[in-house]
Amino acid sequence: MKLMVGLPSPLRRHEYPGLWEDFFQRLGVDVVFSPPTNKAIFDAGVKLCTGDACLPLKVLHGHVLSLGSRADAVFVPRFVYPAPLEAACPKFCALPDILRLNVPEVTVWDMTVDLNKGLVYTLSTLDEMGRFMEHATGERWAGGASAGRVRAAFVEALTRPQAPWYYRIMSECAGEGSGGCGGYEGGPGAIDWDQANLSGLTGLTEPAVGVIGHGYLTQDAFVTMNLQAKIAGRGYRVITGDDVPYDLKRHCCYPFQNRAFWGVGVDLLGTALTLLNHEDVKGLIYVTSFACGIDSVVLELLERQESYGKEKPCMRLCLDEHTGESGFDTRLEAFFDLL
Ligand code: SF4
Repeated sequence: MKLMVGLPSPLRRHEYPGLWEDFFQRLGVDVVFSPPTNKAIFDAGVKLCTGDACLPLKVLHGHVLSLGSRADAVFVPRFVYPAPLEAACPKFCALPDILRLNVPEVTVWDMTVDLNKGLVYTLSTLDEMGRFMEHATGERWAGGASAGRVRAAFVEALTRPQAPWYYRIMSECAGEGSGGCGGYEGGPGAIDWDQANLSGLTGLTEPAVGVIGHGYLTQDAFVTMNLQAKIAGRGYRVITGDDVPYDLKRHCCYPFQNRAFWGVGVDLLGTALTLLNHEDVKGLIYVTSFACGIDSVVLELLERQESYGKEKPCMRLCLDEHTGESGFDTRLEAFFDLL
């Protein structure tokens, strides 16, 4: 029987989508994902977490619990600095420990992504997981767990040129230790849309609505009560941060680049400022979770930007486990009336 590692589906989209399964498959380890969020996962997660945790953290608990009986261990990376000088949310820094504490019946393996300390440091944090894997599975893991083998598998997965995160990783590692997104200059007004490599976002045939927010929230149809389907049902194309190239977001983040402490904040702000300047995007919906510290800062910065002559409807939808669908839909209707 092969070793089986569980990956919570919300993390599938976070930072480097596809990286983790590629990494484990290169090691000959089978991967199983938790299913899309459903009521059972949602309710279980809410019960396991303290009340003041953000909603995505609660939902993640439910996913980890759902994987416990299906995998030898669940892998949850510890993001500390996904880019030099750009910190992760404090909850991500502690994620594996929080889960071990709250879901003790599930074995959690982790590694640390800290590009402030460098890629070599990040790779060294794989060694401990390799030892755990060897210890837990013995002969079931064909080929063993030499540190070199585990590190090599990760580097191969990370630097695969056709992977969507390739450009980003190369940019960040090239600037290792030199400070975040300093290579991107200019401002939204300097964008040449025809040259912007917008993944098909130029020359849209239908009007669009930008949906801004953390991918594990905006892409979760259960938690967001089918928001994207509801927007599409009104004849608007949905554009999210996944559709906007990484370098363009960084470019549009001017003048906040190099001043943001959180990498994901730069990403969200850059996405919003890109879409505010896209003529086919008729309005923005920012989906946030109650108790998200990063969003509270990004929204404040964004609202200040909006006041500089951008005449597009922008709405924030704040979610927690008590959010009801009828109130949610009423706000959405009001937004569509403004478009
Ligand atoms: S960034 Fe916000 S939503 Fe995401 S884990 Fe941190 S507090 Fe929660």
